[in-house]
Amino acid sequence: MKNDCVFCAIAAGEIPSFKIYEDDSVLAFLDINPFSEGHTLVIPKEHYKNLLEVPPAVLAVLLERVQKVASHIAAALPCEGFNILQNNGAVAGQTVNHIHFHIVPRSEGSGLTFESGKGDMEKLGALASRLRLES
Ligand code: AMP
Ligand code: ZN
Repeated sequence: MKNDCVFCAIAAGEIPSFKIYEDDSVLAFLDINPFSEGHTLVIPKEHYKNLLEVPPAVLAVLLERVQKVASHIAAALPCEGFNILQNNGAVAGQTVNHIHFHIVPRSEGSGLTFESGKGDMEKLGALASRLRLES
């Protein structure tokens, strides 16, 4: 547990949360500033800063729970889909440095948008070549 971490404090029950799922290693609770109704955060109880720090075995369990909770939310709420978000670093919008996945339920006509640019095929091709990762 990290002393100044709000999600560690939530996992330890030191500060309240709107919990929707809990097991030995994972906790899911409602985001207090939701993008949409049912916006949920899924965290490991152990403190890891971000996607690069979390051990793969912990990540595997965490992602399985993200799927489980998302499936439950999609069935329980009147929503047609959902987004999974996971921010790493302040520049990417990470405000709590304890890894978490956002589940953001989406409904027709909600007005929620994620803006995107128009892809330049040449640049995309060059970038894909540069970034290709051998398996
Ligand atoms: P991120 O910007 O990806 O780091 O997401 C952090 C999220 O945590 C934000 O969407 C906040 O609204 C949410 N948040 C911060 N403090 C709390 C809290 N005490 N309970 C629930 N959600 C929180
Ligand atoms: Zn923490």
